[in-house]
Amino acid sequence: ATPLALIRGGGLAANRGILMRSGDAFQIFQDVDTIVLDKTGTITKGEPAVEEVVAFDGNESDVLTRAASAEAFSEHPLADAILDCADERGVEFPDPDEFDSVTGKGIRAEVDEMRILVGKPGWLTEEGIDMTTARDDIDRLQARGYTVVCVAVDETVVGLVAIGDPVKNDAAETVERMKDAGITPVMITGDNERTATAVAETVGIDRVMADVLPDDKRDEIRRLQEGGERVAMVGDGINDAPGLTQADIGIAIGAGTDIAIESADIVLMGDRLGGVMDSYEIGKSSYRKTK
Ligand code: ADP
Ligand code: MG
Repeated sequence: ATPLALIRGGGLAANRGILMRSGDAFQIFQDVDTIVLDKTGTITKGEPAVEEVVAFDGNESDVLTRAASAEAFSEHPLADAILDCADERGVEFPDPDEFDSVTGKGIRAEVDEMRILVGKPGWLTEEGIDMTTARDDIDRLQARGYTVVCVAVDETVVGLVAIGDPVKNDAAETVERMKDAGITPVMITGDNERTATAVAETVGIDRVMADVLPDDKRDEIRRLQEGGERVAMVGDGINDAPGLTQADIGIAIGAGTDIAIESADIVLMGDRLGGVMDSYEIGKSSYRKTK
């Protein structure tokens, strides 16, 4: 690896909380025409909280109890939001007798002889559950940019938990800076199209890749590259590591996981999204000055 001091612009970058993990990252960044941004934890604050619980038979505590039991041992950020909400509302829930987490989809659990599914609406549909009663509420909540987690007990959907995750304060401004630099911002997420589009609109992103399973993020980046685009990817999670490696420039947001940081060329300390364009601009001025 190139020593930090030898990287042009490296000192200036370090002062702004930008760490370079490869010597030519700043320069390659200048040729990028597309920046792919993960939604959760990159564009959003990554602090999901329950906004609304819907129970089709009117018993919200019951829906929350089932959801919390299924998620009790999950490490997903959405699980944390559900467990926090159960605690806040004083809802007690038993541990699951069995549980299985289905990556990018949800949790399948068995609790007190009940079969429980907690996860994205499309997954419950795939599992053969009739979602007719839930459709209107799902549409309404997704249009607000919430991630809707559905709860089914013994093959019947009993309710929904709507989870919101506010966008970062500097997200819209950073997207604007990308467009001003002639770079196209693209959102990538495992979340559904409707929720993703609502969040993208809030920050000014017009291109959205939704319903992308964790393993498929890398393929989506490769596809853009095969179409002739030079791609930077910004992400924070374990899910994002293969995409960060595949991209021409991988940028990890510092609050993220070690694995994302190890896969990146540029690491941003703190959680400002603006660091992405700070890096671009520092690279631009360093290389212009010396050429
Ligand atoms: P992202 O790409 O936004 O970081 P993931 O790939 O982790 O998201 O998950 C994609 C979607 O799958 C989530 O938006 C959620 O709807 C659903 N999901 C995944 N894991 C869980 C879980 N433990 N509980 C509920 N829903 C889940
Ligand atoms: Mg993420």
